[in-house]
Amino acid sequence: MPRVETGACFCGAIAAAMDGEPFWICYDHDDDCRRAIGSPLTIWVGYRPSQFRLLKGTPKAFSRTPGVVRTFCPDCGSSIGYSDEG
Ligand SMILES: [Zn+2]
Repeated sequence: MPRVETGACFCGAIAAAMDGEPFWICYDHDDDCRRAIGSPLTIWVGYRPSQFRLLKGTPKAFSRTPGVVRTFCPDCGSSIGYSDEG
């Protein structure tokens, strides 16, 4: 059976599933991510768009850097994801 990970934001309005193995995992503490996440560090788990399934809700998107889109829950503010062309 293929691996499926699920997750949700703090309030539960946004939920998603990720199919298969992540293509990368990154320990990140750069300035942009610290400000966006509101934490001194975060661990990113990377999936391709084809592996990501939104199960519930619609995240709000924000971009400060060309080519980079960050999403978050419009109700509770939890960070949902980061995407770029790579
Ligand atoms: Zn939420």
